[in-house]
Amino acid sequence: MLPLLVYSMFISDSLKTYFRNTNEKELLYQANKVAVSIQKNNYLTDENKKQQFVDEMDIKSEEEGFRIIVTDSLGHAVTDTNRSAIGKMCIVPEILVALDGKDEANLRESEGVIYASAYIEDEESRKIGAVLLVSSFDEVNNIISDVDHNGFIIMIILVLTLAVITFFLSQAIFSPLNNILETIQRISDGQFHNRLDIKGHNELSRLGEAINVMTQQLEHVDTARQEFVSNVSHELKTPLSSMKVLSESLLLQQDMDVEMYREFMQDINSEVDRMTNIINDLLALVKLDYREEGMLNIAETNLTELVAAIIKRLTPLADKKHIELEFECSKEIIIEADEMKLTLALSNLVENAIKYTPGYGSVSVTVDCDHQNAFFSVKDTGIGISAEEQSKIFNRFYRVDKTRDRETGGTGLGLAITHSTVMMHNGSIKVTSAEGEGATFVVRLPIKQHQGGAGK
Ligand code: ADP
Repeated sequence: MLPLLVYSMFISDSLKTYFRNTNEKELLYQANKVAVSIQKNNYLTDENKKQQFVDEMDIKSEEEGFRIIVTDSLGHAVTDTNRSAIGKMCIVPEILVALDGKDEANLRESEGVIYASAYIEDEESRKIGAVLLVSSFDEVNNIISDVDHNGFIIMIILVLTLAVITFFLSQAIFSPLNNILETIQRISDGQFHNRLDIKGHNELSRLGEAINVMTQQLEHVDTARQEFVSNVSHELKTPLSSMKVLSESLLLQQDMDVEMYREFMQDINSEVDRMTNIINDLLALVKLDYREEGMLNIAETNLTELVAAIIKRLTPLADKKHIELEFECSKEIIIEADEMKLTLALSNLVENAIKYTPGYGSVSVTVDCDHQNAFFSVKDTGIGISAEEQSKIFNRFYRVDKTRDRETGGTGLGLAITHSTVMMHNGSIKVTSAEGEGATFVVRLPIKQHQGGAGK
């Protein structure tokens, strides 16, 4: 609007200047023409031609539409086509300038007229008089004020149109924005089931879709959090209840023999161990959850040695169940990894293989690599995992058979820890198994971690 306003003012100003200059020039030309005609016909010097002079001036004035005043060398009006100035002194600046030998034209803004003057000479080039032409500028002023007026009306129409368009546009933009804002408010109050009603295909609807996806994820995280908290409470409550029952029986039984007493205390002790295991695993998981860039202590790690150490540590456990624990690795493999976290993650897999393989079975661990990745696999001849369960075993606290696992001392967190650690190393983990036919877990780990890539 502002440039338009400035432009319209500029147009009316330029128009006015243009008309003013043209009219001044034209009037000056006419003044000189009249002066030359008076000079040629000796109208000022020849008394006999006076009437002819007055008539000619009147005709010219009528034809051209301007007033003609002719003065003598002293400024007395000799003739005036309006008659009012005849015999009077004409003290107009333009006449004084003309008597001084120059011609001039000026617009008198306040009077709405243009004055143009020219001098009259005799044969000896003496200034014997002056011609003053007075022409109205009202017509031009009217045209300009018409232009201004029309411009003003166009401006008003434009303003109103713009105001109406702005109003409807802002309605179209702000009402969905308000809707989005209200939904976000409700979501931030914890009402994650809220979704935006999306209409059309524009930037706002795309924003709405993105918010809906975000809310869905928030809802998912919230559900997972609630599930996790209730799982943790449940898992901790179970050993606590057993301890309560055991200790109450101890307190109520009088004259209990020492053997019985020891047995009860051992049970309580194993429940305490179980709680400690759960809490340790939980702490390890929480640490993995709050991972930030640089949380992993990445260094060149000899994977072959790391796995050999795990095998050495777990061989007594396998021996106890008469399980054959084999390790196969044809070359030394060095990868970039966090040694501590990786040891825990891979140990979980070997421990599980021993745990879920009945006595006299076998567990074989293989480490291999190509030019980009290292592969760690654990194959057992154990109870196996059904296809349906395979997608769930990496969830926290998930156990295929809760009662049996409690006997084996599992917390249901081991595979979740392994999964998180492998993900942090930008690797992947896969399980292939069938119920009763053993299980094979394969972990892929990149040999080199991209700069800043680990831990994300
Ligand atoms: P847990 O501490 O109970 O072993 P995990 O997270 O390590 O918890 O494992 C989750 C579940 O996956 C286990 O309870 C078990 O039912 C199943 N599982 C894991 N490894 C094996 C395996 N090698 N063979 C059969 N089942 C397994």
